[in-house]
Amino acid sequence: MTEPGSSELKTTTKSPVIYRCKKCRRIVASEENIVSHQHGKGDSSFKWKKRSGNPWEKEKQSECTSLFVEPMKWMQAVQEGSVEDKLLCMGCNARLGYFNWAGMQCSCGAWVNPAFQLHKSRLDECYI
Ligand SMILES: [Zn+2]
Ligand SMILES: [Zn+2]
Repeated sequence: MTEPGSSELKTTTKSPVIYRCKKCRRIVASEENIVSHQHGKGDSSFKWKKRSGNPWEKEKQSECTSLFVEPMKWMQAVQEGSVEDKLLCMGCNARLGYFNWAGMQCSCGAWVNPAFQLHKSRLDECYI
């Protein structure tokens, strides 16, 4: 089987994503800065989560409203050596998230440690 002019080796792996501050459009993170975590791993710590038999509810609960990144240069409080503090945009000082070296819990229930959490609602997701 030969495909004439087969050009399957094009770069269709995945489109890189960058995250910008919604207010000033400054780039705050890119895909490679993202620290992934297992969704809903720590769900036993959510007391309100009962066996409701509703599969939709479970799906909704494991949705992450924020993303976690590695410590980066623009995180001034991190550079200053704080253990936990707000993450402010270097461009416009908007609060983009929060960090804690001791770890934080994602909305999906998973613990991330250390945690540099950015709120998705404060960011613009762009595809390069
Ligand atoms: Zn999560
Ligand atoms: Zn900004």
